[in-house]
Amino acid sequence: MSADTAAVVVVGAGHAGAEAATAVRQAGHVGRIVLVGDEPRLPYHRPPLSKAYLAGTTTLEALLLKQQTVYDKAEVELRTGVKVERIERENKRMVLSDRTTLAYSRAILATGSRPRPLLAVGLDAGNIPSNLCYLRTTDDVERMRGRFVEGARLLIIGAGYIGLEVAAVARKAGLHVTVLEAQPRVLARVAAPSVSAFFESLHREAGVDIRVGANIESITLNAAGDVEAVITNDGTQIEADLVLAGIGVIPNVELASGAGLVVDNGIVVNQFTQSSDPDILAIGDCSNHPNPIYGRRIRLESVPNALEQARIAAAFICGKPQAYASVPWFWSDQYDVKLQMAGLSQGYDLAITRGSPASKSFTTFYLQNGIVISADCVNRAPEFMLVKKLVASRRPIDPALLADESVTLKSLAEAAAV
Ligand SMILES: Cc1cc2nc3c(=O)[nH]c(=O)nc-3n(C[C@H](O)[C@H](O)[C@H](O)COP(=O)(O)OP(=O)(O)OC[C@H]3O[C@@H](n4cnc5c(N)ncnc54)[C@H](O)[C@@H]3O)c2cc1C
Repeated sequence: MSADTAAVVVVGAGHAGAEAATAVRQAGHVGRIVLVGDEPRLPYHRPPLSKAYLAGTTTLEALLLKQQTVYDKAEVELRTGVKVERIERENKRMVLSDRTTLAYSRAILATGSRPRPLLAVGLDAGNIPSNLCYLRTTDDVERMRGRFVEGARLLIIGAGYIGLEVAAVARKAGLHVTVLEAQPRVLARVAAPSVSAFFESLHREAGVDIRVGANIESITLNAAGDVEAVITNDGTQIEADLVLAGIGVIPNVELASGAGLVVDNGIVVNQFTQSSDPDILAIGDCSNHPNPIYGRRIRLESVPNALEQARIAAAFICGKPQAYASVPWFWSDQYDVKLQMAGLSQGYDLAITRGSPASKSFTTFYLQNGIVISADCVNRAPEFMLVKKLVASRRPIDPALLADESVTLKSLAEAAAV
């Protein structure tokens, strides 16, 4: 086999792609490995973009996932600032934006996701106002910087994790912050009402003006074409210097669908991360994969998922297949609160809290038919590993024991594991 016919090409140099490229080498691949990314820099950590990096307390250098020397040592050819435009499956090659081509024997698509664009009366989709921002890349943070200053009026659209994390950083930096959420409560898609209430009061105490049930009716622009004000469904007009839209993401599947791969809310893959073309794998935010714990297909937007799927793909390529079967998990930092979530709460029929929201230290368990399907830990890092075990166990647990702090979680996790 020539070097090129044994080549593994990884498309997308984010968390999943950077991990996959080096993991393929670690798992024993001897041929060429190329990592292609359209951003102009080495792969970097995205979570700090709405936390320490936005706050200005960490540097671009500190964001890097791996130093250049790590790619060199693993003999990973890193091609940044170049986009893969097309996959020619019949020739097993990719066509890049710099007009070069890359042959592959196996390809890994790690193309991630992009912010969902804000659509509203008064906005022209092809002409984004300079003070309307999204948050996905370091460039997005740089776009915000000039207006992210003390005293500025920041309007955040969407009270999901990114919106709330930015609200926390902005309050600390002395901005006036309003958050608009269309749902009747913050984090409505993912958290129980009691957890939403905790985060709402956390932000209100910090001075954030949170408005729930607020839909945008229209947006007015000033003479320079910047957003001047947002008008909500009840006629309220909110003026802003800077607007951040954090209304979810869209998986980047166009490359895959253009190549004829099966796509359905992400690139459809099996438990080994193989797409409908067995030589093309897909991992991270862009992949829709089966999860045996929940018995359904899911698409996750989290760093742990990106990293774990990368290792599954590398193992598969190197002839050591392992099925992906992890408990999804995620974290969020807001003010002095660390939230860690294990599992998926959709479909829960009972929420039980252990600890005390008033003291900012509690875990809320989500149960379905007596089984813990997910949990949110607030400032309870030491408990989190046990919580993950409880979710993975799929055993019924007496909710009263979960709430009773005199019963250790360790004993419950051990009992559930047998
Ligand atoms: C502000 C922010 C805060 C977050 N906070 C957390 C957190 O606290 N905890 C957590 O678990 N997760 C967090 N996430 C989510 C997490 O960052 C993502 O789940 C993770 O980045 C997914 O990794 P990925 O490699 O699949 O995609 P990405 O990191 O999006 O990487 C995909 C890369 O592929 C590139 N690309 C796409 N198409 C092509 C192409 N055709 N050719 C070349 N390159 C291409 C993209 O430009 C991008 O660089 C956060 C995300 C954001 C934006």
